[in-house]
Amino acid sequence: MKKKILALIMVLAFAFAMTSCGSESNGKLVMVTNATFPPYEYVDGDDCAGIDIDLAQAIADELGMELEVQDIDFNSIIPAIESGKADMALAGMTKTPERENNVNFSETYATAVQSIIVKEDSSIKGPDDLKGVKIGVQEATTGHIYCEDDYGADNVIAYTSGANAIEALKTGKVDAVVIDNLPAKKFVEANEGLKILDTDYVEEEYAIAIAKDNDELLKEVNSVIKKMKKDGSLQEIIDKYIKAE
Ligand code: GLN
Repeated sequence: MKKKILALIMVLAFAFAMTSCGSESNGKLVMVTNATFPPYEYVDGDDCAGIDIDLAQAIADELGMELEVQDIDFNSIIPAIESGKADMALAGMTKTPERENNVNFSETYATAVQSIIVKEDSSIKGPDDLKGVKIGVQEATTGHIYCEDDYGADNVIAYTSGANAIEALKTGKVDAVVIDNLPAKKFVEANEGLKILDTDYVEEEYAIAIAKDNDELLKEVNSVIKKMKKDGSLQEIIDKYIKAE
């Protein structure tokens, strides 16, 4: 009898633990990002700020939940969604067929292109001139993947952040940096002697990553994005950060 009661208590305790540990069940919406990607996400004092943070906050507000932002390595973002440690990822993340094997993507909320940054006096004029030179990229990003495919892994050096890749360009360790256009603009504004080439490299679309088994959140997020596109509030967020200075 004692054993049965103990077993019952254990079953109940387990059931309780199961319902109380889901991050959504306590009214918290956990977002992961990598805050080295201005204007989408960057560190501002003790907090993360940027387009993706404001968009996530608007989604949390619509769902009546509290937003928690976790700043992790770009490389760890998809695993965090897959394992359920986080509910959604907003990280200027491009929707790609490969990533769709591991996570679901929401409606697209922004478009981007891969830009090429060089020193002002560089002889590199466009994507064709990247053949045979050293290219700096941010690790595990689409820029990294495209450059390895197009120019060979030996010519591509991956850095943990876009800022580190830019530092390598300034000190001559690489001849060009390939990174998304808005961060490219911010990096060139913040660093003298660099320029963005007029020729874009690859076009892509940003979307929110959500776990494959969380259809409910995907539906909710999609309806908020649709609404924000319609009423102009999504564009307002983007404009706020682009016209900021
Ligand atoms: N858009 C690129 C990607 O998804 C870069 C994103 C980033 O560095 N935060 O890979």
